[in-house]
Amino acid sequence: MHRVALYAGSFDPLTNGHVDIIERAGALCDALIVAIGTHPGKAPMFSTTERASLLEAVFKDLTGAPACKLSVRMFSGLAVDAARAAGASLLLRGLRDGTDLDDEMRMAAMNAVMAPEIKTVFLAASPPVRHISATLVRQIAGLGGDVSAFVPAAVAQALVNRRAAG
Ligand code: ADP
Repeated sequence: MHRVALYAGSFDPLTNGHVDIIERAGALCDALIVAIGTHPGKAPMFSTTERASLLEAVFKDLTGAPACKLSVRMFSGLAVDAARAAGASLLLRGLRDGTDLDDEMRMAAMNAVMAPEIKTVFLAASPPVRHISATLVRQIAGLGGDVSAFVPAAVAQALVNRRAAG
């Protein structure tokens, strides 16, 4: 059976926490689609095209290369619709803490009603990266802090370039 999983998020920007989930997804599926959501009305730090380019660049350098085939796509609207359109039967999510658990359980339950054929699979965040959040990375980088411990090198460089560009 060919298992396709969809990992949806903002990835604004991609962090080492996201990369850890992507690397470990190889054990769960044959193909993993990393789906970048666009939210009208929410101004992102990086455009979806920039986020997709960063993901592609980081995929090329993955050290813990996943056994599954990786691809990137953008979507607007519901993750379950994006999963259906991509032929994915699994929705992959990461769980960091109790806050994630509460939010994710509600989302998984409502997604299960809307799309019973698609199953949500949670991966527990790995201890070395479970504290990392894209929101905090944006805030630290915006204040000139060094985020190289939290994001892949290409992302850290893109954040430095963004700040330099004002
Ligand atoms: P964030 O919540 O950091 O802004 P996203 O909205 O892009 O990032 O999150 C997409 C998915 O990645 C969610 O399932 C989220 O729980 C998961 N995730 C985010 N950061 C981590 C992390 N450090 N470890 C494990 N999973 C994570």
